Amino acid sequence: MSSVLHRNLNLNLPMAVRGEGVYLYDAAGKEYLDASGGAAVSCLGHGHPDMVDALCDQIRSLEFAHTSYFTSRPAEDLAEKLISLAPEGFGRGKAAFVGSGSEANEVAMKLARQYHVERNDHKRHRFMARRMSYHGNSIGALGAGGHTQRRAIYEPMLIDNLLISSCYYYREGRPGESEQDYCTRLLDEFVQTIEAAGPETIAALMVEPISGATLGSLAAVPGYFKGIRAICDQYGILLIADEVMCGMGRCGDYFVSAQEGITPDIITIAKGLGAGYQPIGAAMASEKVISALYDGSGMLSNGHTYMGHSVACAAAKSVLDIMERNDLLGNVRRLGAELEAKLRTAFGDHPHVGDIRGRGLFWTLELVENRETKQPFPVEKNIAGRIKHVAQQNGLICYPSQGCINGEAGDHVLVAPPFISTSDHLTELVDKLQTSMDGVLSSFAA
Ligand code: PLP
Repeated sequence: MSSVLHRNLNLNLPMAVRGEGVYLYDAAGKEYLDASGGAAVSCLGHGHPDMVDALCDQIRSLEFAHTSYFTSRPAEDLAEKLISLAPEGFGRGKAAFVGSGSEANEVAMKLARQYHVERNDHKRHRFMARRMSYHGNSIGALGAGGHTQRRAIYEPMLIDNLLISSCYYYREGRPGESEQDYCTRLLDEFVQTIEAAGPETIAALMVEPISGATLGSLAAVPGYFKGIRAICDQYGILLIADEVMCGMGRCGDYFVSAQEGITPDIITIAKGLGAGYQPIGAAMASEKVISALYDGSGMLSNGHTYMGHSVACAAAKSVLDIMERNDLLGNVRRLGAELEAKLRTAFGDHPHVGDIRGRGLFWTLELVENRETKQPFPVEKNIAGRIKHVAQQNGLICYPSQGCINGEAGDHVLVAPPFISTSDHLTELVDKLQTSMDGVLSSFAA
């Protein structure tokens, strides 16, 4: 019996003991193709020798020095590198390093509040996000987001957030409505929500440039993010881009915000930043934000013991070095096109696959009971949970989620394979996924 307090109902989880390249191995010697890296974490695969060297080197020289006394070479180098990669217009920003995506979003929220307070805009304290969004599980980040299921029992403890629609044309576009009209409708809704709440009370909007965990690698319709950026500027609302899942090369560039042609005020990253070798997240503040903090000194009014941890920062810097040395962004783009083609061939005519979507090495199949009506499977059928289980039995780790949040959308299966994958690995992924989905879905008539 496990003494670990697990997040999984199955208390007989296999024990992972080894990882090598794109594969994980359990204590019984069973091999799993890690096609999601948990949730888009393990972008370099497992046991990468250069990562092992970088970690060992850093531990030998310095494992920890508290950030209220010292800065460190790994933290400085990592911050400088990330800022140099940030979308155009970000300017001489700075980055704070914490332990996870949730913490990164907590820092982002505090930065946004601090920005307004230091500009004597004390009323701005409310956060906006989109329905069906997820920005983390700590109380602040959970409160900002729209994940009704995860919020449920904590509701009385959460901040008073404001939610607008997600940009989900496949499911929420009206019959006959063009993408452009849909975009206009959403932007109008954004303005109306701001006006109704009182713009002078709103600190920031937090959004994922490509939604990950809840909606499955869902990109916005063209023009949406530029519209969002313009409205934020018009009302003095900061724009926080949560790139925890979609950023760090997963979609073919370091930042999806840049692909969307926008410059966020704050960007948060995690997951692929440490690639699973260290727990690390970052909140990157643009020059606009930094210049308002403590008269331009850029001091953050927030702190954690393990902030800017030397080994975590060295790991993340090494991830970026490996990406550059091996042109892994190029790999993501090349392999991404291959993965899309393979998924469309295998599932394009599948009676229960309503939508195939994604970018780079971040792809999702949205599952439906009926392709014509887009009717989702009933929540109690637990399609995603069953596919996850069967896929694992078949030696495939993928990331299915159930109907977004209690059936508001179709169940979906997300795959986010490592950037070091080969074409053969992608074939193995799609084959195993097909077998697993057939195993679960063949019992349902189309
Ligand atoms: N933001 C997004 C978009 C995420 O997908 C997640 C995790 O799935 C988080 C924040 C929270 O990150 P973490 O689990 O590292 O706290």
